[in-house]
Amino acid sequence: MVGLFEWFFCRKTTLEKRQTSQLFVKDDSDSKARPYSVHDCVFCRSYTSDRGAFHIVWEDADFIAFRDIKPAGQYHVQLIPKQHITSVRDLTIKDVDLVRRMKQIGNEILDQFQVPSTHRKMGFHIPPFNSIHHLHLHVQALPYVSLLRRIGYPVVGGFGPFDKGFSWFVEVGQTTRILERGARVGVFPS
Ligand SMILES: [Zn+2]
Ligand SMILES: [Zn+2]
Repeated sequence: MVGLFEWFFCRKTTLEKRQTSQLFVKDDSDSKARPYSVHDCVFCRSYTSDRGAFHIVWEDADFIAFRDIKPAGQYHVQLIPKQHITSVRDLTIKDVDLVRRMKQIGNEILDQFQVPSTHRKMGFHIPPFNSIHHLHLHVQALPYVSLLRRIGYPVVGGFGPFDKGFSWFVEVGQTTRILERGARVGVFPS
């Protein structure tokens, strides 16, 4: 069970060189990749076999949101599509509506918690700097609990033709703008 909860947040400790391909996931006990199944993905299990282990705050047919087990801020929710998408790197211009919908749901959740707009932050980790290989939007209420937690979610503004600078986190609005012009999200400026 501890292993399961360790997955819940993206930390540097999980950043060991784990170059999993889209079709393979790994667990902590086995260093060998094996074919993907829904049961390998802790986030897919949030709306299937392990529902009871999650504190679900929002759900519809296509999305589910639950509290992060180790919140980085006053509120910290993980919002995911029920469709298994590996990461933000897999998104293309066809996914602009999906990202827009996630932003909208994220705001509804933060409305529910009465978080002022100035204290909201939402974004995605970019592989290999993500610990869970299922697309998840971090929906957060600031301030962060510590400097150490804050550096996990750096939003770096773009310059010139770029929407974002070098960072391992992309804000949800940046994501939409990058995808809208036909580009993809990566760690380097895009
Ligand atoms: Zn999944
Ligand atoms: Zn993350």
